Amino acid sequence: MTTRKPVIIAGAGPTGLMCALALRKQDIPVVLLESEPALTHDLRAGSFHPPTQEMMAPYGITDRMHETGIQVRHWQIRNRPGDLIAEFDLGLLKDITPYPYRLHLEQHRLTPIQLDLLRAEGGAEIHFGHAVTGYTQTADGVSVTVKANGESRVIEGSWLIGADGGRSAVRKGLDVEFEGFTWPELFVVVSTPYDFAQHGFALNCYIADPVEWGALFKVPDAGPPGLWRLAYPVDPTESEEVLLSPTRIEDALQRLIAKPTAYDILYKSTYRVHQRVAASFRAGRVLLAGDAAHLNNPLGGFGLNSGIHDAINLTDKLGRLWRGEGGEELLDLYSRQRRAATIEQVQAMSIRNKRTMEERDPAVQRKNLEALVAVANDPVKAREHVLNTSMILGLKRANEVQ
Ligand SMILES: Cc1cc2nc3c(=O)[nH]c(=O)nc-3n(C[C@H](O)[C@H](O)[C@H](O)COP(=O)(O)OP(=O)(O)OC[C@H]3O[C@@H](n4cnc5c(N)ncnc54)[C@H](O)[C@@H]3O)c2cc1C
Repeated sequence: MTTRKPVIIAGAGPTGLMCALALRKQDIPVVLLESEPALTHDLRAGSFHPPTQEMMAPYGITDRMHETGIQVRHWQIRNRPGDLIAEFDLGLLKDITPYPYRLHLEQHRLTPIQLDLLRAEGGAEIHFGHAVTGYTQTADGVSVTVKANGESRVIEGSWLIGADGGRSAVRKGLDVEFEGFTWPELFVVVSTPYDFAQHGFALNCYIADPVEWGALFKVPDAGPPGLWRLAYPVDPTESEEVLLSPTRIEDALQRLIAKPTAYDILYKSTYRVHQRVAASFRAGRVLLAGDAAHLNNPLGGFGLNSGIHDAINLTDKLGRLWRGEGGEELLDLYSRQRRAATIEQVQAMSIRNKRTMEERDPAVQRKNLEALVAVANDPVKAREHVLNTSMILGLKRANEVQ
């Protein structure tokens, strides 16, 4: 019966798909535009914190993720020779969440689940190979220009959600600063089937080292036995060819665990890392969510999780506005709450995590790591630490923002 113009979503990554599904569940018309011809399949995030699993559960996503995802209850801090410094147990949270663990599943295995459920829900117009190239807005709606097969056309909508990733064309079309900085180094991400668990490594480890810190975690791949993924920093002045050469990658892995035979490498890539937050997640009828609104380094696994948190917060408020249960101030509240969560939690923790892992001064590093050991050994402090690093405390604080 509704003749209202749809909500247009730019980007079918995890954030855009989550927005589309959550809006369709509220019977709100949706047009989802993705520039690529299909869902993207590159090596990216793969760790889901307890609140993110809780948020996706009502949509049937979390159950589907558990079919292949790996439940990771413990995570560790190690040093470069590989010695264990501290271990944290997410089982401490079993009284407050049905998911007292991180669920590891590659991002490119989440998005097909979301798309499947979106299609099953019905009613969404989904267009691949459609890039948003510009838009205008009035008090009543948005006119979004889309390029497909070399031709441009305009789609009319009531709201536009920019979930189009770090290089967001939607954000760039707004007079909104993308505040923050870019780290000087590049990150390399490689995957190997070699099983680090046989050396006592938990399925999620951070390796502190002044020269080459690392983040190591296990992902399911196509099924057991899965793959181990290592991320480490490299010199950005060297060519990608050198940085990703078999010798360089072999050296990096041998420095982690030396072994007589070469490592099998299944995937490898480099990427540049930023710490940035848009000055506002709303400008009139245009809203930003996920990487389009904020970027952070991967230490702590917050990027994709916070994109899902944006999507849930935004679509709840957009739904209330759509049904006349509140005014447009709800969308400003979305911006305030999610900016607060991003700045006070995600940015602060991911920057602190990286600095702890890469600390150059041995005395400072020893002190930092001793502090972590003291936290791990104190049940009250350990619970607080796990509540914080699982994003539970930051979300609670941000949701209280008015
Ligand atoms: C190379 C790389 C590696 C990463 N590794 C990690 C990691 O190890 N750990 C971690 O926690 N996080 C990692 N991240 C971050 C994490 O992947 C993101 O936080 C997550 O992808 C955010 O989801 P999103 O849906 O907001 O954006 P994206 O996943 O970027 O999705 C945006 C979508 O929009 C589409 N799009 C772009 N422009 C347009 C347009 N103009 N019109 C229509 N569609 C458009 C894109 O094709 C894409 O499908 C990584 C990111 C990158 C780029």
